[in-house]
Amino acid sequence: MPVRRLDPLLIDRIAAGEVIERPAAVVKELIENALDAGARRIDAAIELGGRKLIRVIDDGSGIPPEDLELAIERHATSKLPSGDLSRIATLGFRGEALPSIGSVAALEISSRAGGVPHGFKIRVDQGRKQALAPCPHPQGTTVEVRGLFAATPARLKFLKSDRAEARACADAVQRLAMANPHVRFSFTSSETAIFDYRPQSNENPLLARTADVLGQEFRANALPIEAQREGFGLSGFAGLPTWHKPNAAAQYLFVNGRPVRDKLLAGAVRAAYLDYVPPGRHPALVLFLICDASEVDVNVHPAKAEVRFRDSGLVRKLVIGALKQRLQEARHLATPSHGQGAIGQLAREICGGGQASLNPRADWDWRASPSHSGVFESTAGYDAPLLAAAPAANIAQEAPPAPAQIDAPLGAARAQVHETYIIAQTRDGIAIVDQHAAHERLVYERLKAARAGGAIPSQALLIPAVVELGGADAERVQDAAGLFAQFGLLTEPFGPGAVAVYEIPAALKYADVPQLIRDLAAALREDDCATDPIEKRLSLVLATMACHGSVRSGRRLSGEEMNALLREMEKTPGSGQCNHGRPTYIELKLADIERLFGRR
Ligand code: ADP
Ligand code: MG
Repeated sequence: MPVRRLDPLLIDRIAAGEVIERPAAVVKELIENALDAGARRIDAAIELGGRKLIRVIDDGSGIPPEDLELAIERHATSKLPSGDLSRIATLGFRGEALPSIGSVAALEISSRAGGVPHGFKIRVDQGRKQALAPCPHPQGTTVEVRGLFAATPARLKFLKSDRAEARACADAVQRLAMANPHVRFSFTSSETAIFDYRPQSNENPLLARTADVLGQEFRANALPIEAQREGFGLSGFAGLPTWHKPNAAAQYLFVNGRPVRDKLLAGAVRAAYLDYVPPGRHPALVLFLICDASEVDVNVHPAKAEVRFRDSGLVRKLVIGALKQRLQEARHLATPSHGQGAIGQLAREICGGGQASLNPRADWDWRASPSHSGVFESTAGYDAPLLAAAPAANIAQEAPPAPAQIDAPLGAARAQVHETYIIAQTRDGIAIVDQHAAHERLVYERLKAARAGGAIPSQALLIPAVVELGGADAERVQDAAGLFAQFGLLTEPFGPGAVAVYEIPAALKYADVPQLIRDLAAALREDDCATDPIEKRLSLVLATMACHGSVRSGRRLSGEEMNALLREMEKTPGSGQCNHGRPTYIELKLADIERLFGRR
């Protein structure tokens, strides 16, 4: 076949395939244009998930009549006055959005620029342009897109349900709204929640807008981030690790005000939270990276969703460093909403549901509760280094606790109940600590610190333990022998399908060694570690060891043991959640408890 030039409509449709892959992409491009035009108010509306109609109205600069026809031409833009691609300061610059949309839908733009007595409108229907015509319009621009992909059924087939497309459109608006808190944004659709964010101008507009988008709960679960490094600035809010989500949809990343889905940034977030969030779960966070325009190339993706940094190592270090430090400073913080949620639930049950709801659920059997003493009876003790042997008693103190203890963040231990939970009295409330979850985290951090210090105290077994595993698991364990050795766990192959254990980490001296090895093999199996980065393998191994080294539910603790646990939690980073991301304690505020009893 001879080579020939493609006709312009076909070229536009090919470009449209990359720029406009779904309705949400149209919404994003139109709102970016409105923001580039300096709009203070942007109203977006869609019908049938955007397939029937997408309308975006702005009060920006408007388009002068002489530019309207050009605006819908391919590669026509007003945004690269100097032609310098290395210093892009606008959201748009490729001049592709409007012609792409016009080639796969019916596009109508009505606009009035400042100083022009009335508006003008122009239409492009599946690539066919119509003449410019006058129309009434206030200053600003209205863009309507109807029948998206009607002429390209192949595209239409790839769309998800109207509801899913509507949600993606809402997400596109929300991401841009988050980066522009001073602009009023509204979104209307019959398929998903609508919103109207008023312009934020208080002292922290970004936090206020973030709370608009992610809900007020985010405020209580967010740690402010602020860091600088060699011309790069990072700010935003990191969600507490216990407030984790099933996917990364609640991660909002911006580079110079542009929402991005960047692998490098997403990877840095994952690495920073690795120790805190359970596998398969994702933190919520909002991060704004600001840098000189020349440090970042935004022209690497047709939809401008990805970016490339000149010094990606620096960016990675900045993000990981800032997040890790903040998460560590937060130390024992667990999600405050856990405590509030519990109180709210109680209040509803007591005040709303009447007596019946105070009865246990019909299918609830106390014998099956993990808290039932005896179920997990174990000899493992809590080996806080300073502990003198204390008689086991589950009333922590007869005398009133010392003020110094009460004023500590986790308070003074007053009792242990169900051999599982420590009840502590704080200055203004009650903390309930899950002893196993908390101790597991402490052992994890202790092992990690010891490894970083290069010396994990280990302990030789008098008689090596031989563990039968079966071929594949035994191989996995043998492959990881070097890794285990770093933690003081020495293993060797012992005939086909078995390993012998000679030494174990001292922190695991009470552990059931064969079960530990079997669980390690299972952990390695689960994640197919051969392909995982070493950091991830390390944390899996650590988590499994920590679980085995920790005091079980069902173990009685003395008062001193309980208080030692609380004090160690307070000084250990990340102790607010266990290695599985569950909170290790909740705090009930006295004010809330008093409200429950009608005292307030
Ligand atoms: P780009 O945004 O990359 O320049 P577009 O195809 O999205 O390309 O838009 C083409 C041009 O149309 C823009 O450069 C801008 O001058 C003008 N334009 C589009 N939408 C608006 C708007 N809402 N307000 C003012 N001008 C607009
Ligand atoms: Mg544009």
